[in-house]
Amino acid sequence: MALMECYECEAEISDKALSCPHCGAPNNKAIEQQEIRQNISDVEKKLKSLVTKEKEIESQKSDAKRLQSTLGLLCIGALLLPLCGMVAIVISIVMLLDGRGGLGNLLVSILFTAIGSTIWMASMS
Ligand SMILES: [Zn+2]
Repeated sequence: MALMECYECEAEISDKALSCPHCGAPNNKAIEQQEIRQNISDVEKKLKSLVTKEKEIESQKSDAKRLQSTLGLLCIGALLLPLCGMVAIVISIVMLLDGRGGLGNLLVSILFTAIGSTIWMASMS
């Protein structure tokens, strides 16, 4: 803390005092420095909030990517379901014609395919 002379009453005052404690004259230098400090802290606050916003946007982006890949996997799964069902239907028919399988296998396969196709169509629309 340095001392300086008041330009009004010439008393020694602190250079950090906003006004002279003796005559009340404003210390423009100290006021200016305080304003500069205030501006710097305002800018710092704005920077911090920008960084926070950027982080939020980044996390939203990665959330969206995760959702997209999950949806992609679901679509592939939904596509595989009716495909597996159709293969099962073919196998059931072959087994039925061969006299090795019952009608139950075929019905289950058809049901499986119908459910798979419904899910697939629902995910497409
Ligand atoms: Zn003074």
